[in-house]
Amino acid sequence: MSKAASDVILPGATLGVMGGGQLGRMFVHAAQAMGYRTAVLDADPTSPAGLVSHAHIQTPYLDEAGLAALAREAAAITTEFENVPAAALDQLARTRPVAPSGAAVAVCQDRAREKAHFVGCGVDCAPHAIIATAEQLAAVSDDLLPGILKTARLGYDGKGQVRVKTRAELEAAWAELQQVECVLEKMLPLAYEVSVIVARGRDGQVVHFPLQQNLHRDGILAVTTVPAPNVTEAVSQQAYDAAHQIAASLNYVGVLCIEFFVLADGRIVANEMAPRPHNSGHHTIDACDVSQFELQVRAMTGLPLVAPVLHSPCLMLNLLGDLWFPAGATAQVEPDWAAVLALSGTHLHLYGKTEARKGRKMGHLTVTAATPEAARDTALKAAAILG
Ligand code: ADP
Ligand code: MG
Repeated sequence: MSKAASDVILPGATLGVMGGGQLGRMFVHAAQAMGYRTAVLDADPTSPAGLVSHAHIQTPYLDEAGLAALAREAAAITTEFENVPAAALDQLARTRPVAPSGAAVAVCQDRAREKAHFVGCGVDCAPHAIIATAEQLAAVSDDLLPGILKTARLGYDGKGQVRVKTRAELEAAWAELQQVECVLEKMLPLAYEVSVIVARGRDGQVVHFPLQQNLHRDGILAVTTVPAPNVTEAVSQQAYDAAHQIAASLNYVGVLCIEFFVLADGRIVANEMAPRPHNSGHHTIDACDVSQFELQVRAMTGLPLVAPVLHSPCLMLNLLGDLWFPAGATAQVEPDWAAVLALSGTHLHLYGKTEARKGRKMGHLTVTAATPEAARDTALKAAAILG
């Protein structure tokens, strides 16, 4: 490693982030709290992170002038969005430290490569087949049905996925997905869904957050609970070991989230990974002694990583745009935040998006308490207020 790459980038410097969504916004908040300046590259003038950053470069991800401006402004650069073209990260890396690397992000951007990486690490994933051609479609084994057909690239929040029971449905689904490269996964009997967030430093040190248990509705994360109420120590340890192994073998630098399924028989299989802070780690801001966003700052600047401690049991509720449209409403209505905030232990985070849409992530609410039961009680009350 060159001297420049091993040097710590201290507060006062500018940190750059590719992408201006809510993850970028919370990264910017963490960086600024520690005394860094920030620069965000995102074409949207109203992007959540752009609104709160010192500098906001408003160009597409692959714009030469935009990338040059970011490299000029920032001493180190990260990404908040996994679909930032890996080529843009590679270009930035010619002159600046970039974490995670374009190569690591490229693996996470492609479900086929991601699964091959899990298997290479000795970590189980769902039985699957790659479907890029009509021949591959015809050759699919019946064992994979019922299954879920997922586009290999660019899917998120359950988008780019079709559930299929029969061959006829599979053929129709592939046509519906425009015959792009897909992965067909066998539908597994899920007992629970969990995720592990790790941070890996330039020196190879890896730390992880306590396992998160995640509930999805319609393919979108709805609730995260920590400690994970239904997961044994043995299963947690398997997930931590797998996550460390996956991060190390990618030679990863930064925060990485790995989603796992816990099957009815207690086995865990890796589902997918995100090369960035993750929605299932938002509680770390209010319930841990160091957040996933601060660990991203530390990892990319070469500051020490510390093993995070959960100081409060918690639940995180995603606040989707649906909440702005209660039954009977003819226009967007702001939820009753005052009533929610009257409950002790509630921490409201809104992302500065003015237009609510169904399924759009507008914010989240973390509820902390002295015990898991108390956190759950308060979360139920908050959910009842929100409707
Ligand atoms: P996304 O990129 O949209 O998050 P995922 O692959 O994580 O896509 O799928 C979204 C959700 O769909 C998962 O969290 C899980 O609830 C369900 N799901 C995905 N794959 C399977 C599977 N093989 N078996 C059962 N449920 C699945
Ligand atoms: Mg997912």
